[in-house]
Amino acid sequence: MAKVYAITNQKGGVGKTTTSVNLAASLAATKRRILLVDLDPQGNATMGCGIDKSSLEYSVYDVLVASKPVTECIVEAPDFGFSILPSNQDLTAAEVELINEIGREFRLREALAVVADQYDYILIDCPPSLNMLTVNALAASTGVVIPMQCEYYALEGLSALINTINRVKQLINPSLEIMGILRTMYDGRNSLTNQVTDELRRHFGDKVYSTVIPRNVRLAEAPSHGLPILFYDKQSKGALAYLALAGEILRRSAATDISANTQAEHI
Ligand code: ADP
Ligand code: MG
Repeated sequence: MAKVYAITNQKGGVGKTTTSVNLAASLAATKRRILLVDLDPQGNATMGCGIDKSSLEYSVYDVLVASKPVTECIVEAPDFGFSILPSNQDLTAAEVELINEIGREFRLREALAVVADQYDYILIDCPPSLNMLTVNALAASTGVVIPMQCEYYALEGLSALINTINRVKQLINPSLEIMGILRTMYDGRNSLTNQVTDELRRHFGDKVYSTVIPRNVRLAEAPSHGLPILFYDKQSKGALAYLALAGEILRRSAATDISANTQAEHI
């Protein structure tokens, strides 16, 4: 059964899409079966994987609104070793079109349940808001990964995100957990970075990933070539950082799987 992670933060420009695309490619490089879901109408993850968002036959919109089978909407990216459920501006209308639908929060969860046994990880790139699309992502997920920039206003808005996660957990998805906080565009020479890190550790303890993603121009260039960083410059600091993140996530998953099994044996 796939682990489903929403990559979310309602702030724009914090590295959600960069993390979604490059974590998908890095996990795929370890032979995991990966589905990347682009849930942002901007379609940046779709384009970042070399898929032209303006010429999609079907997209995640058709899955959410038209109940199109998800298997007919998934696009394979054999060169990168993972699959993509793409998105484009059609998705902007989804919120309004779903407004009177019963169970509208569960559209994505129901769709992904059909393919969950075909993947090890499903990563959902969320839009920069706490709207119905993000609620769909949180309802469909087992975990949340929160990318953030270590800047002065980084923690502002975080409580709104945590409240939304907690509400979704209480009301519709009791097993939802914050998997980790990821520091992106990291510059260790900046003293503010260290202050923000201290504050994050106080709030979230070891949920703060020890891997950091450095500010790296190659990461910013790769999407304009439609390539994950591993296929654009695999020696770059950005590529190495996302490979390290994939390693940390796999180690943490293995540790929680072992402790869950041990608990089950004691019951
Ligand atoms: P979000 O999806 O949260 O809006 P993006 O992943 O699109 O954020 O990142 C915002 C911008 O910053 C993009 O232009 C992206 O290429 C760039 N960027 C993201 N991460 C890094 C990084 N570690 N180093 C340099 N540029 C980055
Ligand atoms: Mg984005």
